[in-house]
Order: sequence, then C-alpha cells, then structure tokens
Amino acid sequence: MKQRHWLNFIDGKWCDSDARFELLNPATNQSIGTIAKASVSDAAAALAAARRCADSRLLSSVRPAERVKWMTRIAQEIRVLADEGAHVLCAENGKTVPEALDEFLEAARYFEYYGGMADKIEGVSIPLGNGYIDFTVYDPMGVSLQIVPWNFPVSICARALAPALAAGNAVVVKSPELSPLGICVLFEAIERAGLPDGAVNLLCGSGREIGSYLAARREVDQIVFTGSVPTGQTILKLAAENATPCVMELGGKSAALVFPDADLDQLIASVRMGIFFNAGQVCSAMSRLVVHRSIYDTVVSRVEDLATGLSVGNGADGNDLTPVITARQLNHIQQMCQRAQQEGAVLVTGGEALSDSQGNFLRPTIFKDVSPEMNIAQEEVFGPVLVIMPFDDEPEAITIANSTAFGLVAGVFTQDLNKAMRCARLLRSGQVFVNEWYAGGIEVPFGGVGLSGYGRERGQEALYSYVRTKNVAIKVAGE
Ligand code: NAD
Repeated sequence: MKQRHWLNFIDGKWCDSDARFELLNPATNQSIGTIAKASVSDAAAALAAARRCADSRLLSSVRPAERVKWMTRIAQEIRVLADEGAHVLCAENGKTVPEALDEFLEAARYFEYYGGMADKIEGVSIPLGNGYIDFTVYDPMGVSLQIVPWNFPVSICARALAPALAAGNAVVVKSPELSPLGICVLFEAIERAGLPDGAVNLLCGSGREIGSYLAARREVDQIVFTGSVPTGQTILKLAAENATPCVMELGGKSAALVFPDADLDQLIASVRMGIFFNAGQVCSAMSRLVVHRSIYDTVVSRVEDLATGLSVGNGADGNDLTPVITARQLNHIQQMCQRAQQEGAVLVTGGEALSDSQGNFLRPTIFKDVSPEMNIAQEEVFGPVLVIMPFDDEPEAITIANSTAFGLVAGVFTQDLNKAMRCARLLRSGQVFVNEWYAGGIEVPFGGVGLSGYGRERGQEALYSYVRTKNVAIKVAGE
C-alpha cells in the first residue's frame, strides 16, 4: 500500500489537523501512513455540523423513499471501493484480504438491509373510543455519536451508521486510533452518495480526549459505543450527566458446551472460526470450550491438531492466524498466559510469540484443565487463546458457562434438539448458537447481558434504537 496522509470528514469536507497519528502494520510494525488527529475543536465543529443537519430536518422530513435511494447508492459505492478498501484494511489491521473484503461487503449489506426499512418505520393507531384519535410516530433521535473499536472497524461502523441514517439521524463517528483507514474508505463511498452536509462526520482522535468530550455534550442525542468494558463504563458516567441514551456493545468470554453426541468435525470447524478467526480479536469469540468428561481428551487432542496445523503470519500472504493489533497487546496476552500457568492451567500448545518476526504474532494457544474461577477463564483475552474445561452433567455445564460477568453469546454442540433447547433457555447470553459458531448474520439481533452491555445491534430490532416514540392524542369535537 502506498504511504498516504488521511483526513477527517467534517460538514461535507475532508479536513486536516495540526497533529497526526502514525499507523503501523501489525504484521511488520512498519509505518503505512498517517492520519490527521482530530482536536477538541475539530470535534466541536463536527458536532455542530451534525446538529445543524439534524435541526434542518433535511434527512428526516424528506419522503422516506429518498432515504432508501441514498442508502442504496451508498451500498453500491461501497461495493465499488471494496477491493481498494480491503487492501487498506489488511495493511492497517493485519487481517487477510478476503476477511477485509468481507467487512466491506457486510458494510454494503447493512446499507441495503436498513435501506429497505427506511420507508417502513411505521407507528400504530391506538383506539381510545369515541371522541379521540391517538397514534404514535417514530422520530429520529437527532445526533447519534458512534464510537468504534479497531477489530472490525468497517463493519462495526456500518452496523450503527446504516440504521441511524435510515431513521433520519445525523451522525458523528469517532474512529479507532489504531485502525481508522478502512473507515475513511467507507466514508469516501458515502460521500459519493450526496447526502446533505453534516449528515455524516468522521473524526479520528484520542478516545480519552475527543471521545470523552463528545460523550459529555448535551448536543448529542444518543451514544452507540462498541469497545471495552472500562471505556464503556467511563462513557456511561459521562452520558449520565445529560441522561443521554446509550447502546453498549462491550466484551465477552463466551462458552461453547460440547456434549458426547456432538459432531466433532462440525465442532472443530467452529473452533477454527470461533477463536482463531481475526486472531481471536472478536467480541463474540469462542474463548471457552466446556466439554463433557467422556470426550474431553479426544476434543483436547483434536483442537491441538487444529491449532498446530495453522499457519501463523502476515494476513496479506493469506496465513491462517494473523497478528494481534499491537506489540503491547501481544505482551499483555503473554502475561495472561503466564498467569494462567501460575494458577495451574496446563498449556497444551502456544503461549509464545513467533520469535523470527517483526510483527505481533502469538502462536495459537490452548489451555486444558482450567477451572472456572481462574483469571484465564473469567477475563477477556482478546487474542487466539482457548481454554478447555470439563463437565460431568448438564446443570454443571450451564453453571460453568454462566459463571463470568459477561454474557454476549454462547454455543451448544449436540445432536439432541431437546437438550439444545433446554440449554438455550438457561444460558445467560444475548445469542445462542447451536452446532455452528457465528450462525446467524446481520438480520438477527446481536448484543449482550451483564458486562457485555445492553441494547441490540443488527436485525429489525436495532432500527428502533435510533428512533424515539412520540404519541399524539387528539380530542375530536362533536363525537
Ligand atoms: P476501547 O474501549 O479501548 O476503544 C473503543 C473506542 O473507544 C475507540 O474508538 C477509543 O478511541 C474510544 N475511547 C477510548 N477511551 C475513551 C473515552 N474515555 N471516552 C470515549 N471514547 C473512548 O476498545 P478496543 O480495544 O478498541 O476494542 C476491543 C474491545 O471492544 C473488546 O473488549 C471487545 O470485546 C469489544 N468489542 C465489542 C463488540 C460488540 O459488538 N459487543 C464488537 C467489537 C469489539
């Protein structure tokens, strides 16, 4: 990728700033370019532009079919730029080009999906008897502040941006410092669709500086945050000052329950994606495998074979296991692995960095004989690290799965539908996968319970996070 200086997008224009971030390729730790670092005054300008756009009602008072056209055009333009964007995202984030391309195609799907709903946001009529007419309308929230993490920056950005625009909101996106460039390409596609100035604004700046500044502003009508628990908690405290409604998409420590009748080929394919896709840097990663004792040794051995068979290296060369985002994160994960061993977990494979590389590569890592109270079984690692725990009966499996403070997703592997349904009811999580990790798609609601957050993204349900209900009650004379 050619070195380039990237800009922020404020009030319909690409804008530079005095300061800049340098961006490193996690596979090489070489610079791939710079991006303007948005200041607090840039953030104020973006927020003012979004506020003006929301107050002008240019987005919300047009005939909804116009918003459908904008959304359709954006989806088309994303597809045009997807290949170029995939190479940029691969370089800044370390993922493979096909995985990066999938992010752009998923982003396009969000605009198609929510574009299809933009003219169907219908209220209801409520019968109150003679003398009254009563109905509800869904108004847009106004200005939606969307704070995005680095692990799937393009698709997560589109996940919130598309329903917000479909409902007629203006948006300020705060992109992640570590991987902001793919989102710039996404915005180049959006710019081509000709939205009113101020409808979408993009700021890459320090989370602590401009993220906090924006989250505390009264002019923000809603915050959609995707990221870590501590940052989410900070934002919630800032939002509390103005009672700003929030959607919180936070971390996870999700468990897959494996029963003796599970199809192990199906399971291993799910482990491959569940914990090693995107180097395990997935909020809904399968980070805990909870396996019936009768098949425990077999599963450990099959998962070990899977892990040791993966190629580890640069995503640009199509390797199976790509780098983690920074050298600091690599170091943090290794420390968690050391602590796991000190607490008595048995390292099956991995736990160490690739020695002959400049990049941030951790070998695929598996721990067995882990007990539920160990740190490695409780805390999100956000890397390619799987813990495998045994259970003896169904209630114990559920207890282990529900034993963390998180509750994003969970999985059940069994041929017995009754057992799968019993578990699905008892698992404390926002989504349950049966026999395939990541089954589902953008059409189904996604979000957590407990420390994994609240509110839902994806699916029809998510659209209603971006509107507020207004009721109109009319006294009709003479009835
Ligand atoms: P992070 O919390 O460090 O950063 C997320 C975003 O918040 C970034 O844009 C950052 O600049 C901003 N930020 C940081 N401090 C801020 C502050 N004080 N005020 C306002 N904004 C601030 O998270 P990360 O490391 O980018 O992402 C990894 C985390 O995100 C993991 O915990 C992962 O599980 C979670 N995640 C959740 C989902 C989901 O949908 N539930 C999806 C992806 C990632």
